[in-house]
Amino acid sequence: MEARTDTYRTKGLRNGLVKELAAKGICSEGVLAAIAKIPRHLFIDSAFLEHAYQDKAFPIGEGQTISHPYTVAFQSELLDVKPADKVLEIGTGSGYQTCVLLELGAKVFTIERQRKLYAKTSELLKNLGYYPQCFLGDGYKGLPNFAPFDKILITCGAPFVPQELKKQLKIGGVMIIPVGEESLTMLKVSKISDDQFETKDYGECHFVPMLKDRNF
Ligand code: SAH
Repeated sequence: MEARTDTYRTKGLRNGLVKELAAKGICSEGVLAAIAKIPRHLFIDSAFLEHAYQDKAFPIGEGQTISHPYTVAFQSELLDVKPADKVLEIGTGSGYQTCVLLELGAKVFTIERQRKLYAKTSELLKNLGYYPQCFLGDGYKGLPNFAPFDKILITCGAPFVPQELKKQLKIGGVMIIPVGEESLTMLKVSKISDDQFETKDYGECHFVPMLKDRNF
């Protein structure tokens, strides 16, 4: 039972993780506060409680992983979420990153292509009291009916920056996206005007691939 509730022990482990992330260079107070608050052990299999608060990626079923806490923190910091920002997340996965965005005050729209993960995570988030708008669909297409977005966050490795997502970004908006084929680079793409974008490189990173064909 312990693994399914939040105890002094899990809170203690979580504080240890926050210190580790701060030591690794995460300095956004909002991001660290979100990580201190969200019970990450509830997003992974209960047999792996100990692992939940180590800086590790972890299998979440359907061949997918919950990203490293450092990666979640780093992407969230780069995204620079402001309260009430409309954020599109591609790759709901476990829903942990979604909750970090919600704790930062964003209004979150999140897309997952795996039906089982979509169903399991939508249910979990509701049970935890988090209310993003969850969609089953193809992240390459974004959500044209809900665009434009202040920020877009891609949590899987994309072979290129999808044109459709660039279109759905507000002018002045920011997209954080891991891009590449063999090795991935974390990019921050800022939209200057309808057809002008500025790209900054934040180094190598690791993600499961952003897949093209639907699998549901
Ligand atoms: N943010 C997640 C990371 C999960 S891993 C977390 O915190 O747990 C990336 C996720 O992207 C996987 O669940 C995978 O199924 C999903 N994904 C891959 N390609 C996709 C696509 N084209 N559209 C939407 N989701 C996709």
